[in-house]
Formats: sequence, structure tokens, C-alpha cells
Amino acid sequence: MIKAGTNPYPRKFFPKVALAAMIETLKSQGYTVIAPTLCRDVVKLRPITGSDEIARGVRDVQDGGHYRLEQGDEALFFDCAVGPDSAKAYFFPARQELFALDIERGRFVPHQSRVQTPKLALFGLRPCDLAAIRVQDRVFAGTEPAGRKQCEAELYYSRARAESLLIVVNCTRPGGTCFCDSMGSGPKAVEGFDVAMTELRSGFVMEAGSETGMSLLRDLPVRDPSPAELELADLKTDLASKHMGRTLDTRGIVELLDSNIEHPRWDKVAARCLSCGNCTMVCPTCFCSTVSDSSDLAVKRATRTRHWESCFTHRFSYTTTGPHRHTIRGRYRHWMRHKLGTWWEQFGTSGCVGCGRCITWCPVGIDLTEETAAIRDSSPKVEHEANFPLESEVTK
Ligand code: SF4
Ligand code: SF4
Repeated sequence: MIKAGTNPYPRKFFPKVALAAMIETLKSQGYTVIAPTLCRDVVKLRPITGSDEIARGVRDVQDGGHYRLEQGDEALFFDCAVGPDSAKAYFFPARQELFALDIERGRFVPHQSRVQTPKLALFGLRPCDLAAIRVQDRVFAGTEPAGRKQCEAELYYSRARAESLLIVVNCTRPGGTCFCDSMGSGPKAVEGFDVAMTELRSGFVMEAGSETGMSLLRDLPVRDPSPAELELADLKTDLASKHMGRTLDTRGIVELLDSNIEHPRWDKVAARCLSCGNCTMVCPTCFCSTVSDSSDLAVKRATRTRHWESCFTHRFSYTTTGPHRHTIRGRYRHWMRHKLGTWWEQFGTSGCVGCGRCITWCPVGIDLTEETAAIRDSSPKVEHEANFPLESEVTK
């Protein structure tokens, strides 16, 4: 994959009438195509068999604790911002069997059939989701500390990522809770994709970002775009960056949060927070998991399963003396400081890509951009260094 600003591939124009052929091409190459689909009034990423299953002609209205779909422009296939799910569930499944033991004549016999990794074409990802994949790559496929061995779940992640094709659609109409522009992760993808597309009414301006993406474009009925088409595509993404639903001032944010551990705002947010964990479940970068063991009813097979866990649960911080993060105040503070601050120390990047999901899907509409602004506004002004490089400036 190419790096930002070094793309050697020329942009192409792809007419919408050929979208069905593109899905067929991907399927013929053995890909399971995942795209935004309409599932009971919510747009979700699901496997599709044809372009008619894409959530076409709908647009979303998003705000804190609020998500609605309404009739949109029938000519547009990708007029919704992100829904509750992301690529995360496809590389890091919510439930995953790690291993099983058969109990035969009183002895445990390993029953370890390696889970098949799918060959996925993620079609219609948003630039913030692409940034989130890069964040999770550091968590699951990172090589630090040197010589670290990957566990079975991480090996699955690495295999699925290696097989995947990432087709991004640049955002031209951000959602009400989006703030990717503040985090440098959108609304236009600049690196890390196989193909990036900007939707116009008649077709897509497309850009390959890897040799695999370029080879896909060679199989499609693309043509050179006109100067007007290129100008319109650029104008649409430029306008999107000026119309974000939210903004987050990231100047000196690590030191801002570090120096406000006892701020009274944490009590205010704790009075509203239900500690339900929705924010962590929908977040495309949250990676915590736990394991549980079970046996079948005949006690013939024991299975260890890994499943997503949330730092908002009581049991999450349980140690021999009980949970050490036993207040909601402590849990919310831990989560937000990790996302925006301590993630930098751990992984050299922000843990937040500005997708806005945690705001939309919080049942009481708690908004980390609002919480950060409230802490900043009531804190003594400090000269903030730009110690928060934009996601796109961070070298891998
Ligand atoms: S913390 Fe919220 S806005 Fe940031 S990446 Fe996670 S869900 Fe998106
Ligand atoms: S911030 Fe919102 S989504 Fe997250 S745990 Fe609290 S109530 Fe649930």
C-alpha cells in the first residue's frame, strides 16, 4: 500500500451502471463482499451478493443518542455516514472459539481445527474506518516488544487482514456526530487503501492505492476523468471537511487530561453514564476481550471462547481484592483518557479516529468532544504544544 502523497496511480472515472459488474468481479476473485446494507432501519456492514443490496437512496440523521434514516437521493449509493458496526467485527470477531478439548476415556484430547480465515472485500468503508484498521493493526499485528508471539486471535487477525481488500468511499456528507477532520483521519482517505472512491451522481472518481487495487481497476470499465469530474470530487470532500457534525480541539490534549484527573466534570458525566458499555462495543478501535470456558451438555467437549469485553463492566478491573475501578466516574475517565491520551504512550497513535459512533449510540448521548471542551474551558490556559500529530502524519 502507498503512503500519503506518493500515489503513482492516476485517478479514473467509473460509471455507476458498472457497479454490479464490479461486485461480480470481486466475487469471481473469491472475495466475500461486505458493504453498507439496510438492516431494520439501520445501515450495517453485511455480506452482499449484488449491488442492489447496498443501502442506496437513504441518508442518516445522527446526534448524541440519536440515529434515524430518511429518504435520500436515489442516485447515491453511499450517502450515509458510519452505522454502529465497523470493520472491527470482521477481523476481530465479537465471539471466537480459541480451542476445544475432547474428553475421551477420562483424558483431554486437543480438538484444534484452525478457523478458516475469509477473503474479504470491505466495500464502502469510510476513511475513519480505514484509520481505525491501522490503529488495530498496531494492537493486534504489532511486533512490539521485539520477538512477541501472537496468540491465536491475533494470528487470525493478521491472516484476515492479509487477505482483505479495502475499498474506501470518501465522505461527501459527514454525519452529525462525525469529527474525523479534527483527528486527521478523514473525510478523504490518503493512504492505506486498495481503492478509494468519491461518489458523484453519475459515477465514482476512483484511485488505486495498491497494486491489488490497480489490478482491480484494470478489470473494470474505467475511463480517464474529465477535469470537471476531478474538480467536483475534490470540492465535495473539501466541503465535507468544513461541515463536520462535531469538532475536537486536540491541542495538548494528553497533558490537558493528565492535569485534570480530579476535575468535577468527571462527576457530572458519571451522574449520566449508565456504564452500559455501548460506546466500547461500537468503537472501531476498542480491543479488549476476555475468555470463558464451557462444556457441552454431555461433557464430551470443553471449549475456550474469546469475546469482546468492555472497560465499563464491574468485572473488567477485578483483581484479588475486588474491582479497582469501582466507580462509573473512574471507568468513564479511564476510557476517555485512554482513547485520547494514554493510547499515544501505548501505541504511538490516538485511540480515537473521530467516527462519532460512541456519541450516537450512547443511550444518554454522552459526547467526548463536549466533555473534553468542558474540561478545557474550565482549566487554566497552558501553552499547548502540538503534541498530537494528525493520524495521517504518523509514520507506520
Ligand atoms: S472513541 Fe468514539 S469517536 Fe473515537 S473512534 Fe471510538 S467510537 Fe469513534
Ligand atoms: S458513556 Fe454512554 S455508551 Fe458509554 S457506558 Fe456510559 S452510558 Fe453507556
